[in-house]
Amino acid sequence: MVARSSPLDQFIIQHPEYFFKASPELGLINPNNLYILMSHIKCAAFELPFEDGETFGVDTLDQVLEYLEEERVLRHVGGRWHWTADSFPADAVSLRSAADENFVIIDISTPHHRVIGQIDRFSAPMFLHEEAIYIHEGIQYQVEKLDFEEKKAYVRKVDVDYYTDASLAVNLKVLDVFRSEEGDRIGRAWGEVMVTALVTMFKKIKFDTHENLGWGPVRLPELELHTTAYWATLEDHPAGIQSQDELQNALMGVANVLGQIAPLYLMCDPKDISVVYHVKSPFTQKPTIYIYDSCPGGVGFSEKLYEIHTDLFEKAYEVISQCGCDTGCPGCVGPAAEVTDQGKDLALRILGGIILDNQPEGKTQRNVFELPFK
Ligand SMILES: [Zn+2]
Repeated sequence: MVARSSPLDQFIIQHPEYFFKASPELGLINPNNLYILMSHIKCAAFELPFEDGETFGVDTLDQVLEYLEEERVLRHVGGRWHWTADSFPADAVSLRSAADENFVIIDISTPHHRVIGQIDRFSAPMFLHEEAIYIHEGIQYQVEKLDFEEKKAYVRKVDVDYYTDASLAVNLKVLDVFRSEEGDRIGRAWGEVMVTALVTMFKKIKFDTHENLGWGPVRLPELELHTTAYWATLEDHPAGIQSQDELQNALMGVANVLGQIAPLYLMCDPKDISVVYHVKSPFTQKPTIYIYDSCPGGVGFSEKLYEIHTDLFEKAYEVISQCGCDTGCPGCVGPAAEVTDQGKDLALRILGGIILDNQPEGKTQRNVFELPFK
């Protein structure tokens, strides 16, 4: 493995035992996620008609079957639900994503255009906007045209020394709280959220050094994502933080680290989750950091994060405090240029306060080399 400067890569290089000694997989899936369940029920019905009264994991099977009949996918005759659609349902199931509205990526470098990949609808504006660099099998492609209506991206091979990173303007609204717990300095919750996301611009970032080489605008429609999220609520005026600006920088740094280390616990790709922070959340009325499942309906990441909430913040403190940089770098809170010279210090101050709050009396500081899970 050749480590890049991201906190995840750096953590693994610093703690090789994470890779060599950890139990291999913690695959999370939520079989009751409606998008996933629906696809499975369709495939099952295609193989063999459901009979009245049959069960399929959940007790809402009847409602799903009725919905599919309304959609003219199934027909209910003589106590059985028969497949009537023309299509073969397994074709529409992706191993990579839950939603079935995928964008197709077409390579137009040669006269014989060929499909090289797919990306789910919610990720498409981030990764397939015009001028985005898309990497497939180690080859760089640049997106020449994104046909949003037809869900097709036309790409051409290029050889450049940068990658692209799109900026999302995210609006998150809490719809329902499943569980929550208050604390003196930090509270946690897990619930259902609606995320609206608009890609506004993209940056060109140089390989290796992560230097910013320029930017361009993105004009694509806003997308809505109904999913689950975990969130941590901080106190109004955290100790050691003097102003709104300081709070903003501290939250930015902490959010950056959390987004990179949470995948260590979830065994997922950093892209499978997203982090947003509010200096004052309209819902909690306090500084809040949200981590949501990028998959529509959620696959269980947020519930897991709710459970490991304390570990997560301790690990964030550990990663930042052990980072060799002075004022912040891409390996911890983000480049100093983004979080200001004080970014690292501010993030440590806010995290230090939280960890003290969670440290029961007599408990010594966690061993740095302790694995996230055993
Ligand atoms: Zn650093």
